[in-house]
Amino acid sequence: MDNCIFCKIARREIPSNKIYEDEEILAFNDINPAAPIHFLLIPKLHIDSLSATEDNHQDLLGKMLLLAPKLAKEQGCEDGFRTIINTGRVGGQEIFHLHFHIIGGRERLPVMIHHG
Ligand code: AMP
Ligand code: ZN
Repeated sequence: MDNCIFCKIARREIPSNKIYEDEEILAFNDINPAAPIHFLLIPKLHIDSLSATEDNHQDLLGKMLLLAPKLAKEQGCEDGFRTIINTGRVGGQEIFHLHFHIIGGRERLPVMIHHG
């Protein structure tokens, strides 16, 4: 995807504060962190969103999910963290290249959704 900002980061055309990379996956710090620890985990393969995943992405998605707690711990999440995947308009997704937000720090994160 020529114009996708996260594809550009994966191709190193745009700099990022990288914390992990392998052949299929990249993790880098969010440019506008919501908490002391806030990084994004992306597949290098362009996938629009969680809604656009297919059966053949199973191994990749499993790998990303298994990597999340390892990287979270490495980054200093000692007592938990939050994983967010915004999907589509209703989910508030702004960048249409699948990404997992991993968010944490010392303090308990605020409640995300209030029940009416
Ligand atoms: P979302 O609303 O889930 O699509 O979130 C997109 C996230 O990407 C936001 O938290 C942005 O701060 C983050 N972001 C946008 N551009 C960059 C960039 N160049 N490097 C790192 N994070 C970025
Ligand atoms: Zn992309």
